[in-house]
Amino acid sequence: MRWMRMAALALCLAAPLGLAACGRSGPAKVDAARLAGAESEPGQWMSYGRTYDEQRFSPLSRINSDTVSRLGLAWFADLDTARGQEATPIMVDGALYVSTAWSMVKAYDARTGRELWSFDPQVNRAWGVHACCDVVNRGVAVWNGRVYVGALDGRLIAIDARDGTKVWETQTVDTSKPYTITGAPRIVKGLVIIGNGGAELGVRGYVSAYDANDGTLKWRFYTTPNPNGPDNAASDSQRDRMLASWSPQGAWRETGGGGTVWDSMAYDPTLDLLYIGVGNGAPWNKQLRSPGDSDDLFLSSIVALKPETGEYVWHFQETPGETWDYTATQHIMVATLNISGQERRVIMHAPKNGYFYVLDAATGAFIQGKNYVPVNWATGLDPQTGRPNVVPAARFAQTGVPFVATPGPGGAHNWQPMSFNPATGLVYIPVNLTAFPYIPERTFTERRQAFNTGVDFAAGAMPRDPAVRAGAMANTQGALIAWNPATQTEAWRVARDGPGNGGTLTTAGGLVFQGTAAGEFAAYRADNGRKVWSMQAHTGIIAAPMTYDVGGTQYVAQLVGSGGTFALPPGEIGRKGGGLPNVSRLLVFALDGNATLPAPPPVAARTLNPPPSTARPQVVALGRQRYAQYCGVCHGDAAVTSGLLPDLRYSAALNDAALWNGIVREGQLASNGMASFADALPQTDTDAVHAYLIWQANEDKRAGAAAPQ
Ligand code: CA
Repeated sequence: MRWMRMAALALCLAAPLGLAACGRSGPAKVDAARLAGAESEPGQWMSYGRTYDEQRFSPLSRINSDTVSRLGLAWFADLDTARGQEATPIMVDGALYVSTAWSMVKAYDARTGRELWSFDPQVNRAWGVHACCDVVNRGVAVWNGRVYVGALDGRLIAIDARDGTKVWETQTVDTSKPYTITGAPRIVKGLVIIGNGGAELGVRGYVSAYDANDGTLKWRFYTTPNPNGPDNAASDSQRDRMLASWSPQGAWRETGGGGTVWDSMAYDPTLDLLYIGVGNGAPWNKQLRSPGDSDDLFLSSIVALKPETGEYVWHFQETPGETWDYTATQHIMVATLNISGQERRVIMHAPKNGYFYVLDAATGAFIQGKNYVPVNWATGLDPQTGRPNVVPAARFAQTGVPFVATPGPGGAHNWQPMSFNPATGLVYIPVNLTAFPYIPERTFTERRQAFNTGVDFAAGAMPRDPAVRAGAMANTQGALIAWNPATQTEAWRVARDGPGNGGTLTTAGGLVFQGTAAGEFAAYRADNGRKVWSMQAHTGIIAAPMTYDVGGTQYVAQLVGSGGTFALPPGEIGRKGGGLPNVSRLLVFALDGNATLPAPPPVAARTLNPPPSTARPQVVALGRQRYAQYCGVCHGDAAVTSGLLPDLRYSAALNDAALWNGIVREGQLASNGMASFADALPQTDTDAVHAYLIWQANEDKRAGAAAPQ
């Protein structure tokens, strides 16, 4: 009998797509038992963070510090988008599943790169105007022969893993509100868990669970209170607690308060707890949102829920009274750590606010925490409760006085996944070193198709003075930091020129992989950070790499393509350390791989050629204000783009008012993602934006070399 089982196993290994031999019929046959036992299938990467604990550690070791010098490109696939690529691929039984911009999904033979199928959910491209930070998607989930994707327009879609056809779809959001989905679903006990985004524009956050079989809504948990009554949702048990933590007044009653669950989740099968990361307030400005000293639960919190019912178990709020866009949506990781000689089951978290938290995974109790980057908004965490000691001046909304906070709203760490290596005991964090001038607006007016933060982005735009500009640029950097969560110390770091670099992967081969906004994909020794391998992808890298084994060969996959959080709003800052054109691709590496990438696209030289600026200063000032409120979050701070979307200072529409109106008011480029603003702004305002861009282009032309090109 034994030899028969051995033969079947050999067949299974030799023919990874011949799944009948493996005792499973059809692709993507992932279930609770397989996910819970992922450690016994080291070659697979079956969920977003590889395992439910989301450690992004692979037990594979054929590629290691001795062999990695032989790493080469095995195959690559060009993707049919030119927007940011943030997804982590999933590999099950020889098939690789990946989502790309506009929520499209592809399946490939993981060994050869042959495309198996492609799925386009046909997202209305004009919906892109509601996406705060590019039309990205961070990944799919697989379960019982199906692939699940959250689409930008709020739909949750189940796809047949055999041929890419749609099985069911359900709308998870109120489409009269600016909700988007960019995060990866997670599947626990047959329920597809999905959140959403939109807190910059003004929505109320929640997470939902749908039956993986047929898309039936099983439960929903809102992260902010409903001022008008219960929701008939799992969060109703917490409504009184939430209500008591908000001011009875404030814009939250109209906006919903924010608190979107737009990215991270993790699950502990032993404790049977689902952890969700909750986002920032809407609007950011606390005094306008919920005036006073209230905490505003569950903004900027990790909340633990029962996965079958959504029942509340515990929460830990990292930034009470959140007002800096300090989300707690960053990567949540479950691990067992030895802390002061004691084995503890813990949550590890490095959110935007700059502090690294270690919490008890069963109770949410604070164990320890320390800042992993310089911070100036707080002086430290209370050693008993973990509550930050906030510097009074940092509360710009209450003082009415601008405050330059470190970190800024891009976060010390954003959505880019970190990873944990049990052998080194280190967490590898892609870090941003940034600051931001928070300048409060006095009144709140909710605007359509615009950020509604209560923070003046026009006044806070990059200053025109070249010296001030140079200073701001010098202080904007990035780093790969290896953090010891047990001792709360930095073990090593690799400096980066700019922020917004890729997520990380670590392996039993003693390696850490990370790509950069400058297009370098590299491997480092996990123990000391020494670079042991690199290649140039000719485009920015923001996604996290993953690794898998098919037929005894270890592969490393990395999605590349500039875009995302740091490519859009921050303009010139976003170009620092990056600024490469978007070339959206899936790159797959193996030892002795010998495929080569095509030559990078030529960079066309451009010259500013605006018409003379003849508008009155008041018109330019209005246009500058409206640009900052409506346009800058995609087309760049002070009209300087990172290179992803058109730099409007160079637009042919500056010389052609009819073309300008056709695009901005009539939606002629809606299929490219440029929505009409006719319902959001009157003609006088879009005319003023046109006048401002002409003025800005003339100013930058006159400044010559000192101005950003
Ligand atoms: Ca945010």
